[in-house]
Amino acid sequence: MFICKRVNHLQDWLTEQRRQSRAVGFVPTMGALHKGHLSLVDASRQVADVTAVSIFVNPRQFNNPNDLQNYPRPVEADIKSLYEAKADVVFIPEITEMYPEDDPYHTEFDPGLLGRTMEGEFRPGHFKGMVDVVYRLLRIVKPDHLFLGQKDFQQAAIITRLVHDTGLPVAVSICPTIREPNGLAMSSRNMRLSDHGKEEASLIYAMLVKGRAAFERGEDASDIKTEILSTYRQHGLDPEYVEVVDGSTLEPVQYYADADYIVACCAVKVEEVRLIDNLIWKKAV
Ligand code: AMP
Repeated sequence: MFICKRVNHLQDWLTEQRRQSRAVGFVPTMGALHKGHLSLVDASRQVADVTAVSIFVNPRQFNNPNDLQNYPRPVEADIKSLYEAKADVVFIPEITEMYPEDDPYHTEFDPGLLGRTMEGEFRPGHFKGMVDVVYRLLRIVKPDHLFLGQKDFQQAAIITRLVHDTGLPVAVSICPTIREPNGLAMSSRNMRLSDHGKEEASLIYAMLVKGRAAFERGEDASDIKTEILSTYRQHGLDPEYVEVVDGSTLEPVQYYADADYIVACCAVKVEEVRLIDNLIWKKAV
């Protein structure tokens, strides 16, 4: 596995792969890797000839300085996990490498409502910073395939739109959320939860599952949202939002018949750690 910090070293390596007609799969991450990230590496290895992984804790997408400071950075363990997962190249740039003064990769892409609702509302500037780094990474790596997690559903929706609108020639795959046995979505932030907090946090997913059953029975999304929010609060969790949206436009949805693709999304704080999750409530087949 080739490990590099410099854009030109990475690009030399990738140029050689392309010269040999190898398709490149790419998995961008912020490190502190868990089975969710590694499932993306697996997905890439199934369709691409070589798999590139980036580890970069992007300061521009953190609206909260404490969150940035507390973000885990176990780089040695990450490299070991990627080696075992058989990634081919790991790119671990410094901030100055990603954001040089003579900036060659800049985009004014505006995701519209996709970027304003939910996470966009509660984390101002987050998606602008995320788009900034993902666009840069895509221009640097020029992958054939890009692998993203359903866990960050809104992020995946925005990147899919970014790729479409900017015409980048990359196929985007969105892979299922990997969960702990108790249903808690795996996240680098879970490391900051106590064992008790991890148990409490399992309610996040449990209520999304319960809500889906009520929604399928024909109940109104507003009533279900109210019930989910109050159940979280009764159990000492601190929800920021629960929204039921059209999975393509992210417009709010009220009833099951209102759209073909419907996703329930939430952000909930547990022990001061902000967690997000989502569940598909309807998917057209
Ligand atoms: P992050 O390191 O949090 O920026 O995540 C990097 C990629 O891994 C993103 O595409 C995430 O959606 C994805 N990811 C994070 N957690 C999970 C999970 N539990 N299951 C599947 N994919 C995940």
